[in-house]
Amino acid sequence: MSFENLIRDVYLKIKNTEDPGEMASYIPELSKVDPTNFGVHISTINQINFGTGNCYDKFSIQSIAKVLALVLAYRLVGAEIWKRVGVEPSGTAFNSLVQLEADKGIPRNPFLNAGAIVVSDILVSNLKNPKEDFIDFVRSISKNPALEYSNIIAQSEKNVGYRNVALCNFIKSYGQIENDPSDVLDFYYDLCSLEMSCKELSELFLFLANNGRDIKTNRSVLSESQSKRINALMQTCGFYDESGEFAFKVGLPGKSGVGGGIIAIHPDQYAIAVWSPKLNKKGNSLKGMKFLEEFTTRSELSIF
Ligand code: GLU
Repeated sequence: MSFENLIRDVYLKIKNTEDPGEMASYIPELSKVDPTNFGVHISTINQINFGTGNCYDKFSIQSIAKVLALVLAYRLVGAEIWKRVGVEPSGTAFNSLVQLEADKGIPRNPFLNAGAIVVSDILVSNLKNPKEDFIDFVRSISKNPALEYSNIIAQSEKNVGYRNVALCNFIKSYGQIENDPSDVLDFYYDLCSLEMSCKELSELFLFLANNGRDIKTNRSVLSESQSKRINALMQTCGFYDESGEFAFKVGLPGKSGVGGGIIAIHPDQYAIAVWSPKLNKKGNSLKGMKFLEEFTTRSELSIF
């Protein structure tokens, strides 16, 4: 069955199932989104592009943006980055403080809030105008000048970002944040406020299915080895404390966000984005995970 027909089929099946998930409400603006939104979009290295449902509607990509921050920081400082942030799954919640004390301010991985805050610090140190330079980078690799931050989401998160303030200051107390914590956090909130549709996401992330190279121009966004490492981190750490479950059920590297988005990569094949705002207990899109489980099972394509 073609990807198009399979996506249509699985979409209809999952759309009509009950969704006991809950919207992320700790960032007030996120809870205002229509919970019935459901979109899917695939972009393949053979240049098939297909989507259904709300695949053209923009949403808050939240933690998915942490991958893009890591990609840019990795380009800028290379392997030095692994002195500041680890590559192990954490087994704790994405906003947990507990391990940081034992690990002396070196977060377990770049997709925890603590890790993404350290990556943000690296970007603030290495970019002239961090907010502008970062969005320019994302626009340039996607060739999509329409990509934007949402000031409303960033401000909404800043208003209630008590744990992130605590994390950043705690890491700073170990000498592992170079800049003023408020500058680092402002950048972090902007980063998490990026908005994209499923279509924009799957197109943007396709380079990770293509050994780090842009599919149209063949220009390198990352080296082949760097691209492999980002995929490895998404596989082992991309789904909060449910990364094992995602590998078990879906079998692809990916990253989720509390806005209900998921991007998943099949190296040498495709990038697929799913969006459904209601989350399961671990913070991953409930229907998004179900969709991807059924999609990889029925297509019999996964990395395992
Ligand atoms: N901006 C969110 C936070 O810091 C990101 C959470 C997420 O998507 O995992 O809580």
